[in-house]
Amino acid sequence: MAAHQEKKPSEERKRKNTQNGLRTSQVQWGRAWEVDWFSLASILFLLAFAPLIVYYFIMSCDQYQCSLTDPLIALLTGNKHLSDIWNKTPTLTYRAAGIYTLWVAFQVFLYVFIPDFCHKFLPGYVGGVQEGAVTPAGAVNKYEINGLQAWIITHMLWFANAYYFHWFSPTIIFDNWIPLLWCANILGYAVSNFAMIKGYFFPTSAKDCKFTGNFFYDYMMGIEFNPRIGKWFDFKLFFNGRPGIVAWTLINLSYAAKQQELYGQVTNSMILVNVLQGIYVLDFFWNEAWYLKTIDICHDHFGWYLGWGDCVWLPYLYTLQGLYLVYHPVQLGTANAIGVLMLGLIGYYIFRTTNHQKDLFRRTNGNCKIWGKKPEYIECSYMSVDGTKYYSKLMTSGFWGWARHFNYTGDLMGSLAYCLACGFEHILPYFYIVYMTILLTHRCIRDEHRCFSKYGKDWKRYTSAVPYRLIPGIF
Ligand code: NDP
Repeated sequence: MAAHQEKKPSEERKRKNTQNGLRTSQVQWGRAWEVDWFSLASILFLLAFAPLIVYYFIMSCDQYQCSLTDPLIALLTGNKHLSDIWNKTPTLTYRAAGIYTLWVAFQVFLYVFIPDFCHKFLPGYVGGVQEGAVTPAGAVNKYEINGLQAWIITHMLWFANAYYFHWFSPTIIFDNWIPLLWCANILGYAVSNFAMIKGYFFPTSAKDCKFTGNFFYDYMMGIEFNPRIGKWFDFKLFFNGRPGIVAWTLINLSYAAKQQELYGQVTNSMILVNVLQGIYVLDFFWNEAWYLKTIDICHDHFGWYLGWGDCVWLPYLYTLQGLYLVYHPVQLGTANAIGVLMLGLIGYYIFRTTNHQKDLFRRTNGNCKIWGKKPEYIECSYMSVDGTKYYSKLMTSGFWGWARHFNYTGDLMGSLAYCLACGFEHILPYFYIVYMTILLTHRCIRDEHRCFSKYGKDWKRYTSAVPYRLIPGIF
């Protein structure tokens, strides 16, 4: 761990109620303890409308060729009633329930019962048992990192089926997309409700639970920090990584297969979306150990936001480009295709390099080279709930000297590339870049608020040294 610690005598701790020069009644650098009206309003909005937004997008492809405006116009002009749209919507089927149950059970099996073997033969890959970051209560959890292996096994079976066994059609996901949506919702709500009940009655670590006193906030943002069943089944790692992200590339492959079935060819835009998003997904699994140090695992508690979001929002809305291209097969000119590819690859390069620079810096405690030089940094300290003092460092070299979240900038460039691959006929494929811009800007502000609570005046020194958030000189 990069953080060093030094225990304070408990008497001294009791007297001391300042942290890094800031007065605090308790150490509160984890998730918020108090809910402001804006957060509450956003949460209520999302709880009420996020499931409808997902339904609206998928329904508009199914019934209106991916036009987001046609259903609204039809409803407003009285040409259609809500009941007409609802009655045309495919219902939950036994087939979809069977496929989904098998899918989730298979991913649980791969996660829980097959210890990682990839790290034994893939040079540079970090898998097997790894440690997460220090929690606000001062605990360090262990994780079995075997996501790459789960992804490889799942995809090998997919291709073996598509080219050899023919147990099912590779278009199976597309063909059952709406019935599967109901299954994903059932799991998403079941896991979120279970996490809430578990947080109240049998938490894995009571010290790392947070109750704000606001039911909706706690349901949405979670109570437990790292809910687990048994020693190894970690809710955050499993739901963040497995049913949604392993499925992401399979969903895109299913869309490509559907294009092939419908039009006798797969367009270059579909190939670009499959390749660029495939790189992003593979990167996630190759760097799963690094992922333990990201905000999702390090700071977010497990509630509806992660539980339902990973089961429904991610697989359904992150794959809209491929879905759109089934209904509107776009064949890009060579120059446009190269432009999209270059934007996607440069975005990915920035995203990966920035994340790698921080990971290397933190892993080696600053004893490394960034762009050929020893990195510069700001020394900082923070305290956990039990009063233990930790030391850490904030790097000001490499991309981290350009902006405080240049990794998000790279991510946004890649996201824009997926959207541009779909041409300009409809706005639906552009939902992703709009959403990612809101998500990452909000995340940036949320993270900085948390870092300020954690590091106090040291964080201020850092923001003076690196004044911009995402785009140097602008924002
Ligand atoms: P970061 O990887 O940027 O992590 C932020 C944390 O890093 C801070 O809380 C702080 O943690 C530490 N930190 C901040 N500044 C410095 C510094 N200068 N030097 C060293 N450490 C620093 O954020 P995320 O976890 O949100 O994102 C990780 C990646 O995942 C990003 O590339 C993002 O684009 C991507 N992402 C993708 C999403 C998607 O849906 N596709 C969603 C969310 C993220 P500490 O307390 O340890 O100091």
